[in-house]
Amino acid sequence: MIKLDILYEGKAKILYETNVTNELIQFFKDDATAHNAQKLEIISSKGIINNYISEYIMNFLGKKGIYNHFIKRLNSREQLIRKVKIIPIEFVVRNFAFGSIIKRYNLSNEYKFKKPLIELFLKKDELNDPLINDDLIVELGWVTRSELENLKNKALIINKHLINLFNKINIELIDFKIEFGKTVYNNENKLILADEISPDNCRLWDKKTKKNFDKDIFRNNTGDLIEGYQEIIKRFKITIES
Ligand code: UDP
Repeated sequence: MIKLDILYEGKAKILYETNVTNELIQFFKDDATAHNAQKLEIISSKGIINNYISEYIMNFLGKKGIYNHFIKRLNSREQLIRKVKIIPIEFVVRNFAFGSIIKRYNLSNEYKFKKPLIELFLKKDELNDPLINDDLIVELGWVTRSELENLKNKALIINKHLINLFNKINIELIDFKIEFGKTVYNNENKLILADEISPDNCRLWDKKTKKNFDKDIFRNNTGDLIEGYQEIIKRFKITIES
């Protein structure tokens, strides 16, 4: 496997082409951003922790039948992934109301939704990732109506699996964001889970104390982000090789 040119650089990761068709290297940076990158800091070792946590979660979901882009971790900061064309829609699944939805609808903090709910956002920094609805997504042609329905169902299934996974370590999954991409698999076009699942894109609270172990620590300046993320590593019993 030879690492070639940068294909894409985002806020938290870099994707490199490789000499293997349809396989990329995903590199986890230490950059932390919030409020649409108005707040930016380098937090030493965040990329390493997210690489390991995302590996753990993608492997777990893979075993549950949620085929995804993760192939294997290569080293402390890099993983081998399947090349996909990302659909520019953020699927946010919420079990409890927190964050942007509270401000948008004046909901009370920690309101528990009767059923998990999904909000869709357009991935476009220049526009501040606005909310988008199904009709406009279909109109703009990224996915068909039935593909979108399938992805929303998949997001809810992923939510069930993740709730169970985090329950085992006494963590409440408040909400999370996932992304999907298009790829060719067994000569067929497929839409698969991609990107990362880590404390950068989930809200994770201790069930008893409600202490949070996610990027809100950075967004709200409430403590040491690495200490929070390490707690997830510790509870999952993940070993980070030095
Ligand atoms: N999220 C994310 N990337 C984004 C926006 C949100 O990963 O660009 C995650 C965020 O970490 C949280 C969930 O999606 O777990 C819901 O975020 P929310 O809409 O409440 O936005 P925020 O409060 O982060 O502005």
